[in-house]
Amino acid sequence: MSIKVQSLSKFYGEKEVLSDFSIEIQDGEIFGILGPNGSGKTTLLKILAGISQFERGSVIINGIDAKVNQIEVRKIVGYVPETPYLYESLTPYEYFGFIGSIREIPKEVAERRANDLTKAFGMEEYNDQFIGSLSFGTKQKVSIIASLIHAPKILILDESINGLDPQSAKIFRDLLRSLTQDGMTVVFSTHILEIAENVCEEIAIMKTGKIVAAGKTVDLLKERNLEEVFIDLTSTEDISSVVSALRGSLR
Ligand code: ADP
Repeated sequence: MSIKVQSLSKFYGEKEVLSDFSIEIQDGEIFGILGPNGSGKTTLLKILAGISQFERGSVIINGIDAKVNQIEVRKIVGYVPETPYLYESLTPYEYFGFIGSIREIPKEVAERRANDLTKAFGMEEYNDQFIGSLSFGTKQKVSIIASLIHAPKILILDESINGLDPQSAKIFRDLLRSLTQDGMTVVFSTHILEIAENVCEEIAIMKTGKIVAAGKTVDLLKERNLEEVFIDLTSTEDISSVVSALRGSLR
């Protein structure tokens, strides 16, 4: 078992943003976390990545207790945040070298991995430009490549594929599949239901810090498509009446 979360509760001040939350994610699985804005996806992913603490419950990542040993968790996890945090005055090439050195990866290994990933994403032409001058999608690719330099056992992506063009999104999907075949576990959140539907073996749908549906994607989608399931489970409003009220006021 790669990830085991039991009865997790997380508070920001008085506000409980994850509430008695439990999931299990198997080795080599691609697991999708879906949910409307503010449902707690980022909070959960930061805890799984060992960069955020929590008040109650237990989180075990590859046998490591994330409550007591966040540093060890960070060593085996690659984390790609929603907004890439990068050094804008470095080039991608310099940045990958920097990440390799803080991850204590031998220089030639880090370089080989960075080169292979750079090539796969068609990023070679940007290798010597300042990161600050790159587009959002290209920065996201830099962030994804950086997360893979230490060959993590678990890859955690927070809305990280949303800025990719269709070609890069396809490369990324294929890459995820091949990495999981080699034993990596991938957990990601996305707003793009089509990606979740096509890529994830299992999905959890969140609403206000709780899971409202979870299971094998094929089972969740037996009778309805993912958009219908998602809206039905997470919407607080009747969408057709919202749309008709909007049409009325725009007339
Ligand atoms: P999502 O990723 O699903 O949009 P988040 O995990 O970002 O959701 O947020 C869940 C809830 O926690 C939201 O109500 C948000 O306002 C709150 N929240 C997130 N980060 C903080 C923070 N640093 N301090 C206080 N509240 C926060």
